[in-house]
Amino acid sequence: MPLAVRSDSIEGNKIPKGTRLTNPAPRGDAPPFEVVAGTAEAGILIICDHGSNRIPRRLDSLGLTGDILTQHVAWDVGAAALTRALAQRLGAPAVLTTASRLVIDCNRAPGHVASVPADSHGVPVPGNQNLGPTERARRVEELFVPYHARIEAELSAIASRGQRPLLLSIHSFTPVLTGPPRPWHVGVLSDRDRRVADFVLRALRRLDGLVVGDNEPYSGRHPEGYSCQTHGDARGRLNVLLEIRQDHLADAAGVAAWAARLAPIIAAAGRHPFGAATGSAGAA
Ligand SMILES: [Zn+2]
Repeated sequence: MPLAVRSDSIEGNKIPKGTRLTNPAPRGDAPPFEVVAGTAEAGILIICDHGSNRIPRRLDSLGLTGDILTQHVAWDVGAAALTRALAQRLGAPAVLTTASRLVIDCNRAPGHVASVPADSHGVPVPGNQNLGPTERARRVEELFVPYHARIEAELSAIASRGQRPLLLSIHSFTPVLTGPPRPWHVGVLSDRDRRVADFVLRALRRLDGLVVGDNEPYSGRHPEGYSCQTHGDARGRLNVLLEIRQDHLADAAGVAAWAARLAPIIAAAGRHPFGAATGSAGAA
């Protein structure tokens, strides 16, 4: 069954009053985010910060070749497909970026050195060299602000129905980056609030043959991550970030298999009577 994908990402939505939206949808370009409509009162919101490799036309591919833009430096390969598949299985809404992390990384605070990266994994980004504050601010206002406003609006909508929202952030990682091969098939990332992460870790570790990382291959405790910290931990909301190894998401069958594996676990987490967040000792 085709997903109900709303393209009216700005019109008629619930972006909070006071949000600055100077030019949310440049002419001829995609809306600043994609929304997959929920089909049930799941209480879960799925987000995908790095799911697109698109570059707005006015930026002329940031001076990069098409080949680079298909690689992991530009996006989390397979993450958007998994996000949509999970949304369909869970009946949950999803919000996805529609521009590459090379344009602006929606999982970094504006102003962070990696927010508009001058290079990505050693690949220089010509269109990001020596950028002035006006261009940086334009990308924040056109892409970052509307994306995060929509996430907040979707979470608030869940809460306004009397439900406790659970935020699930979907990413993917390369089997090899610069060091040794990464053995994990899936990484469960969390910061101070480990309620959902510990639940998901236990569930995944019960599955045969799966190598599961706790805050691997990246640490959710790193202060750089923005989305789960801002919409999750900082608001006392249940949240978890999952990193799936990209070779597992290389085709539709792999995506479907991971959606089938994760959906019942996330659905169970959504029903679980977690206590209040305490923050785990030892979190950086
Ligand atoms: Zn990512």
